[in-house]
Amino acid sequence: MDTSPDARRPLDPATVVVVAGRPDRSPDAPLSAPVVPASTFHAGGERAYGRYSNPTWEAFEEALGVLEGGRAVAFSSGMGAVSAVLDTLPLGAVVVAPLHAYNETLVTLRQRHERGALVVRPIDTTNVDAVVGALDGAALLWLESPSNPMIEVVDIAACAAAARAVGATVVVDSTFATPLLQNPLSLGADAVVHSVTKYLAGHSDLLMGAVVVRPDSPWEEKVRGRRETGGAIPGPFDAYLALRGMRTLHLRMRQAQASAAVLAARLAGHSAIERVRYPGLAGSPGHDVAIRQMRGHGAMLAVDVRGGAGAAEAFAGGCRLWVHATSLGGVESTLERRRRWPAEPVTVPENLVRLSVGIEDVEDLWADLARSLDALGR
Ligand SMILES: *Cc1c(COP(=O)(O)O)cnc(C)c1O
Repeated sequence: MDTSPDARRPLDPATVVVVAGRPDRSPDAPLSAPVVPASTFHAGGERAYGRYSNPTWEAFEEALGVLEGGRAVAFSSGMGAVSAVLDTLPLGAVVVAPLHAYNETLVTLRQRHERGALVVRPIDTTNVDAVVGALDGAALLWLESPSNPMIEVVDIAACAAAARAVGATVVVDSTFATPLLQNPLSLGADAVVHSVTKYLAGHSDLLMGAVVVRPDSPWEEKVRGRRETGGAIPGPFDAYLALRGMRTLHLRMRQAQASAAVLAARLAGHSAIERVRYPGLAGSPGHDVAIRQMRGHGAMLAVDVRGGAGAAEAFAGGCRLWVHATSLGGVESTLERRRRWPAEPVTVPENLVRLSVGIEDVEDLWADLARSLDALGR
């Protein structure tokens, strides 16, 4: 349904995130898509079975698709989405992939490489020349920007152009940016992957994922087919909650991002911190590329804590307001030392603590960080 007050002016994403994926505005229709718990449907229609489609997922998919400028396919988790994309590749396909990305993405790539399903070429994707040099014969270029947990920014447009030149398709994991800050399809990517678990759902109470492809992409059918046979479907209640959470994405991201900028600057001035990784800091790597391809710098940052792994662990564990936990993108601020996970690449510093800034009062957040950091010196 067209909700645009002025046909010449497209709706702002802040509005789209509120209005997209709603039932038609007919008398007595509900404002929100209802939860439809159904394993099967009466015969004779298109839905047929609960692993093929569900009206609640479809409302979520419509909203995310409009926001990204493509067609969304929802999954039971971000990894379900990642796996579905990789499963569409032919046996032995060459994949150029980042050195630093979400650790389970790297694990599944490595496992596929080891069993001969794919040939994976790990590369520093922040270096466009290195990407260009690795693309020969590649079927797929996998990017993640900003990256987990190093908060590196990849020049998506430059990498996508290079991939296109050799006939490789490009996937961008855009979880940290969300569709409000970055639209990889408009930068030349063929598909976008989201861990919906994080900012989109936003309340640390469900897992979901999504793949978004260009409209009319033949990939949509392949990815849907993988969901059908792989079975990584979201539950209708989770899809409902994810869409409900997404309605406030603009407000949550605005607050979290503003606080992240304040905290990054203050952390950079603290004697217990060796380095702050945040593209919003002028002079940081990725700052200029982020200005070009993103609307803002996001709310994820990382710090290298002086004193090694022990100090980093003590910093994370010493917080009272910040939640010491994995995952990110919720209304509550969380932090953790990423190398506590054996799957994390060894090139991620032992003393790196990743911070996901939530929507609490920024002075409360700073007071907690400062107290825990000050305690390290004692
Ligand atoms: C969490 C995460 C994933 C995996 O998503 P799940 O919903 O946990 O399966 C993929 N990519 C990034 C960047 C993530 O942060």
